Amino acid sequence: MIDYSPLEAWFFTGSQHLYGPEALERVRANSEAVVAGLNGSGALPVRVVFKGVLTTPDEISAALREADAAPNCIGVIAWMHTFSPGKMWIGGLSRLRRPLCHLHTQMERDIPWSTIDMDFMNLNQSAHGGREFGYICSRLAIERKVVVGHWREPMVQERVAVWLRASAAWHDSQGMRIARIGDNMRQVAVTEGDKVEAEVRFGYAVNGYGLGDLVAHVEAAEEAAVDALCEEYADSYTIMEGLLPGGARHSSLREAARIELGLRRFLADGGFHAFTDTFENLHGLRQLPGIAAQRLMADGYGFGAEGDWKHAALVRSMKVMAHGLPGGTSFMEDYTYHLETGGQAVLGAHMLEICPTIAANTPSCEVHPLGIGGREDPVRLVFDAAAGPAVNVTVVDMGDRFRMVVSEVEVIEPLALPKLPVARALWEPRPDLETAAAAWIHAGGAHHTGFSLALTAEHLEDFAAMAGVECVFIDGETELRRFRRELR
Ligand code: MN
Repeated sequence: MIDYSPLEAWFFTGSQHLYGPEALERVRANSEAVVAGLNGSGALPVRVVFKGVLTTPDEISAALREADAAPNCIGVIAWMHTFSPGKMWIGGLSRLRRPLCHLHTQMERDIPWSTIDMDFMNLNQSAHGGREFGYICSRLAIERKVVVGHWREPMVQERVAVWLRASAAWHDSQGMRIARIGDNMRQVAVTEGDKVEAEVRFGYAVNGYGLGDLVAHVEAAEEAAVDALCEEYADSYTIMEGLLPGGARHSSLREAARIELGLRRFLADGGFHAFTDTFENLHGLRQLPGIAAQRLMADGYGFGAEGDWKHAALVRSMKVMAHGLPGGTSFMEDYTYHLETGGQAVLGAHMLEICPTIAANTPSCEVHPLGIGGREDPVRLVFDAAAGPAVNVTVVDMGDRFRMVVSEVEVIEPLALPKLPVARALWEPRPDLETAAAAWIHAGGAHHTGFSLALTAEHLEDFAAMAGVECVFIDGETELRRFRRELR
């Protein structure tokens, strides 16, 4: 349900007529070579399309208007090969709605020391042309990514790739539909928020649906489809004794499958890409959706528990950003600490709903009691998350604005947890737990997060810039006093 293949980023080169037609032809040919080189590198997840050398205010305005109107254009990359006077860009840039990446590069990597003359200097003017462009963008307060370096360098291509992924998620967020099944958990503050402002800011629409709408789909699930899904579970996971056909708990597995089928139909019919539920609103459902929420997340749906629509949206956007990358992405919650000196770590989990894309090994499909919710024992997938660097991300509503917090962590292998029947991840935050947890708490970060083994802080930094929301980072460099000053 996530597809980059129709997406494009449009590439424009800024110049002017001062240099004469011959120079502009060289600029065009060089631009084509740069775009072909970027596409041919295999480093970019989205196709870049060269859309021309822009030399007048009218051309610039028309080109950027077209980029905004093109449904598959997710962003604009601009390169100032020569000097393109900034006033020419005011009309176009001040109306541009698409994300902007300023690629500050030069055709030739090296100065040709023995042959360089004024013709070469006049044709290769990024060093000052890019500054003129930067000035007008800053003067107009336009958020953009600035990528500096030679276009053949893998690090330069990687930074453009990160921006393309964030742009794809931003594109997906515009008009994204999020279904809230039930309200948020009673009395909880951090899962609340201004849904109108969220739609203005992020582009996604959050609307509530009665549980009866879902229950009708669950009850309509056909027995043959339930049989087939139970077989799929058996083929995909290790299955706990008693859950297979003929087993004492098989009816639990069938009920879980029925809930998954109903949820899938409900989400597909409504065109939703993310959803929330809550254990306080389960009337008509015999189990809290466990394996259903887990497998829907694995297919690319955003999910937030306890009515947490902000994190449902975030998980969906992070899944779009991470599309095709190694490592999974999940809804997550900071659950329990290990506070041993020198080995401090966070055990992250949820009651049930952790995405199996982050699993280190084949998940185990199990049924166990759930202390809250007052329904039948829910079926869930149990596993440990794979080890490696990861990010934990939250979006909170500060009353007058949204704030994103990004925390870099290292996932480590947990010891055996034979009595813990939920999926989990164990991580050490950077720079250490005391600093990271204090910083997170000072920032007002939620207990719920979007967690990813695939993304880096830079993906979220680019995404937050596109949304125009505040974003703070907790990483190896974080020092608490400086961090608190930054918040103030
Ligand atoms: Mn929770």
